[in-house]
Amino acid sequence: MNESAFTFCPHDGTRLTEHIEEGIPRPRCPSCGFIDYCNPKPCVAVLIEEHGRILVGRRAKEPAKGFWDILGGFIDAGETAENAVHREVLEECGLRVTIARYLGSFSDTYGPRGIPTLNLGFVAVSTGGEARADSDVAELRWFAPDELPETWAFPHQQAMIEAWRRLAGGAVRPIHDLTTEEAYRLVRDHFGHPLPPLDAIENEDWGRDYVLQHFQRHTAEELASAGLIWEENETR
Ligand SMILES: [Zn+2]
Repeated sequence: MNESAFTFCPHDGTRLTEHIEEGIPRPRCPSCGFIDYCNPKPCVAVLIEEHGRILVGRRAKEPAKGFWDILGGFIDAGETAENAVHREVLEECGLRVTIARYLGSFSDTYGPRGIPTLNLGFVAVSTGGEARADSDVAELRWFAPDELPETWAFPHQQAMIEAWRRLAGGAVRPIHDLTTEEAYRLVRDHFGHPLPPLDAIENEDWGRDYVLQHFQRHTAEELASAGLIWEENETR
């Protein structure tokens, strides 16, 4: 999509004319030289994951009012994508989150004017607050991978859901679901704790607990950066 939002120059009101730049037609102002590159607006899209389910909102407003919608929104000027994740999620559902994973970027358009958007997809984990729909969200619901909506507010959201599904049902794993070997590699390679050789501890009764206890030295945020979470009711 490369359609200009402007018919007239936003600076001086002169009618824009077509100008070919590097083989691409660009609307240009013959008076001041303004060129509309039709760049996309950057947005964040956030899947909050818990127990293999994701939190999704239903839109309270147009466009696409009433449709299921991935939480998120436009990034403000001067704001990082990470800050936009925290701000949008807090505004829309009242949760504080930590980012577990970047899913990729997804192109789309927004609204009747077809404003081009570039949606940066994240998976995040709640670290506090109580989920309640707010701002432009009418309703919140947790969905398991096999019960997700078929129709979404915006086409890129299906692609983002597919990207999440390719992570074998979840980007975030409870620490106690890891095999001893997986835990060992994360402790050693991701968190940099020196460990004895794997085969020296793997066959011992205490081996698994010994490996898992290394995760206790890390904050929820540090663990989320490796896609890990302590499940509720787990001893730390
Ligand atoms: Zn102009």
